[in-house]
Amino acid sequence: MTDLTYYHATTPEFEQRPSLAGEIDADACIVGGGLTGVCAALQLAERGYSTVLLEAGRIGDGASGRNGGQIVMGYGCDMTTFERAVGREAAKTIWQMGTEAVTDINLRIERHGIAADYRRGYLHAALNARQAGGLLELAESWSGTYGFADIRMLDAGDTAAATGSDIYRAALLERGSGHINPLAYLRGLARAAENAGARLFEASRVTCLQRGTRPVLETARGRVTARMVVLAGNAYLGGLVPEIEYRIAPVLSAVAATAPLTADQQARILPGNEAVADSNTALNYFRKTPDGRLLFGGLASYSGRPLNNASAALRKRMAGVYPELSNIDMEYCWSGKLAITVTRMPDFGRVDSNIYYAQGLSGHGVALTGLAGKLIAEAAAGDAERFDVFSRLPNYRFPGGPARQAVLALGMAWFKLRDMVGLSK
Ligand SMILES: Cc1cc2nc3c(=O)[nH]c(=O)nc-3n(C[C@H](O)[C@H](O)[C@H](O)COP(=O)(O)OP(=O)(O)OC[C@H]3O[C@@H](n4cnc5c(N)ncnc54)[C@H](O)[C@@H]3O)c2cc1C
Repeated sequence: MTDLTYYHATTPEFEQRPSLAGEIDADACIVGGGLTGVCAALQLAERGYSTVLLEAGRIGDGASGRNGGQIVMGYGCDMTTFERAVGREAAKTIWQMGTEAVTDINLRIERHGIAADYRRGYLHAALNARQAGGLLELAESWSGTYGFADIRMLDAGDTAAATGSDIYRAALLERGSGHINPLAYLRGLARAAENAGARLFEASRVTCLQRGTRPVLETARGRVTARMVVLAGNAYLGGLVPEIEYRIAPVLSAVAATAPLTADQQARILPGNEAVADSNTALNYFRKTPDGRLLFGGLASYSGRPLNNASAALRKRMAGVYPELSNIDMEYCWSGKLAITVTRMPDFGRVDSNIYYAQGLSGHGVALTGLAGKLIAEAAAGDAERFDVFSRLPNYRFPGGPARQAVLALGMAWFKLRDMVGLSK
C-alpha cells in the first residue's frame, strides 16, 4: 500500500511544470498550487494581471489533490454561527456566496471543458435521534431563512434504500451538493489559468517573503517581485507568515478506495450515486467512483500525529456501514492535511494591504476555494466589498500557539465521545 491517491493513479498525467530559476516581475504572485491558488491565478490572469504561481511540490500535492471530492453546500459551521457573528442580513449574503461557489464549479467545468466526473446529489446522514434533530434544524434553516428549496428529509426506510445501509436514523437529501474528481478539476483549472496567461512553477517552494510596497518572494533558485501576493498554502504553509499561522490548525484525514464493487453491490450501494457524510465530529464521508469503487474517507488526527494503519481503520469503519464489504481489498489509501479555524468560519484577509490570504475552509474547500480565488481577484481589481464580508468575520487564533494541536486534540476528544454515546440512543 502506497500513499498514491486513486486520483493520481487514474487521472490523465499533468506534465511537470518548470522550477523557478532567475528573476520575474509580475502583478500578482501566488504561493501554493491547490484549488485556492489555482482559482486565484485563473481569475487574476483572466482579468489581465501578469500572474505567477509558485508551488512547493506538484500542483495538487496538498489537500486539493487528496480530498474526498465532496462538493458541500454551505460552510464548516452552521449558518447560526454567522448570524451570531455578523447578523442575519450579512449571513444571507454569506449563504448566497456559498451557493455561488457550488454553481461556479459547474460553470468552470463547462467553460474550460474539464472532464472531472461531476455529479449532483448529497445525503447528510444521521446516526441517532440527536443528529436527526440537527438535520431537521439544518433543513429548516436552509429552506426557510435561506430559501434553498431542493431539500428533503428521508426517514430511516428511505435512507436505507438510498444508501444501501440500514444504520442510519434519517438523512437530508439535497441536490445542490455533489461530488467530483478534485484532481482532474484542479489540473483542468491549472491549464485554463495557463491559457489565460498565468505562469505556473512547480518544485518552487517560497522560502522567504520580503514585505513592502513590492513584495519579493524567494525560492531556492529564483525570486519574484510582485505588486500583490496571495498566500494559498493553507495547512501546508507553516510559518512563512507568522501572523496567520495560528489562525488555523492542521487536521490530518484519510481516504481509501476499494477494489471495484460487483455489479450487484453497485446496484444496492448508493443507487442514486449521491455522496454521503454522517453527522459525527470525526465523520465518515463516502461516494462511488465512475469505475464502481467505494471511495471512503474518515479519521481525523487533530494532534499532528500520523494516522497509523489508516487503511485497516477505514475498512473497519466502512464495514460498520456496509458489512458485506468487510473483506474487500482497499486498493488505495492516502492522507492529507486540511485546515480548520476555531469557529469553522473561513479565514480570508490581508496581512498587509497587498498580501491576501484565504485558508481554514474547515472541510468545505472543494467548493469554497473557487469563491476565495474569485473574491481575491475582485478585491485586487478594486472591489473588495465581497472579500471584506469574509475578512471582517471574527476569527481568532487557536489557544496554545505552537502547542495548539495538542490543546485541540483534547477538546475534540469530548465531541468524539459524545458521538460514541449518541450512537446508542
Ligand atoms: C483527506 C482530505 C479529505 C477532504 N475531503 C474534502 C471533501 O470531501 N470536501 C471538501 O470540500 N473538502 C475536503 N477537504 C478539504 C479540502 O481539500 C481543502 O479545503 C482544499 O483542498 C484546500 O485547498 P487549498 O488550495 O487552500 O490548499 P491545498 O490544496 O492544501 O494547497 C496548498 C498548496 O500550497 C503549497 N505550499 C505550501 N507552502 C508553500 C510554499 N512556502 N511555497 C510554495 N508552495 C507552498 C503546498 O505544497 C500545497 O500544494 C479534505 C481534505 C483532506 C486532506
